[in-house]
Amino acid sequence: MLNLREIHKPTTIADALKLLQQPGTVALAGGTELIADARQDVRAVVDLSALGLSYIRESSGAIVIGATTTLADLAESPILRALANGVVAQAAHQSASSILRNQATLGGTLISEPDDVLAVALLALDARVNIVGKETRSVALVEFVRETKGLTHQAIITEIVVPLTNPRASLQTVARTPSDKPIVSVVVSARIVNGILRDARIALGGIEEYAIRAESGEIELEGRVSNPQLIDKAASSAARGLLPRSDYRGSAEYRKEMASVLTRRAVKELLA
Ligand SMILES: Cc1cc2nc3c(=O)[nH]c(=O)nc-3n(C[C@H](O)[C@H](O)[C@H](O)COP(=O)(O)OP(=O)(O)OC[C@H]3O[C@@H](n4cnc5c(N)ncnc54)[C@H](O)[C@@H]3O)c2cc1C
Repeated sequence: MLNLREIHKPTTIADALKLLQQPGTVALAGGTELIADARQDVRAVVDLSALGLSYIRESSGAIVIGATTTLADLAESPILRALANGVVAQAAHQSASSILRNQATLGGTLISEPDDVLAVALLALDARVNIVGKETRSVALVEFVRETKGLTHQAIITEIVVPLTNPRASLQTVARTPSDKPIVSVVVSARIVNGILRDARIALGGIEEYAIRAESGEIELEGRVSNPQLIDKAASSAARGLLPRSDYRGSAEYRKEMASVLTRRAVKELLA
């Protein structure tokens, strides 16, 4: 950020939005991506830390998380540890090293890492993102991750809202070592009513540039009674048709196979 001339620290969202309309001005949350990127086009930053957007609370059948809540606070939150087998808290822990977790925020992570394991966990729980800009809107995370930069241009993410629909979930990942960023991550969530699966969700990371839902696998689970064949069917359907990227961390073939293996493990754990 060699061309930085101004740092603003507004205390109201209205003031922050006004400042963000200026050319070359961007929002600053934890700063871990913004500063590491050393963007030449950034002249001024609007520090979001005084806007009062760091909280995790239950409200009207949902968990509401302020956008500047750090990953460390998410990982340690008793509310999130109790939500859907703690997958959001676990994902926040796996998302980054301890130094980064203390600095990086939920909003910044969803924007800079839309394929991160944290986005995968929130996607499996049908999270929505509240954005305040020229207009105020609530966007489903499944849409938000595809278009992060466009949706937050001259706008601020204020909250992420997680409905309390699915009480059960399982997070499965594969990485080079337990402390490495996952190569592939899968979160499956559902309600089980009288032994029947409802609102099944399968979310995958490490396949596209952003977290995705495996709807063909979800269809296999929806409305079904748990049995071993169901687990295999859901796992193979979830991976069918995937065209993962290849890079030095894992080939496309490996990622596709892991999507199926991890879905199988997640569904099995969910039904246990
Ligand atoms: C050394 C290093 C290692 C890393 N390793 C990993 C890793 O292993 N895994 C991983 O997932 N990530 C990794 N990252 C990236 C890291 O996850 C992100 O940098 C971090 O999560 C971003 O969060 P932040 O709060 O620091 O965002 P910032 O850097 O402050 O902002 C990121 C972007 O989001 C925008 N923004 C932030 N908050 C808001 C908001 N509320 N409303 C609107 N716009 C907003 C900013 O303008 C900016 O464009 C690494 C980064 C570093 C520096």
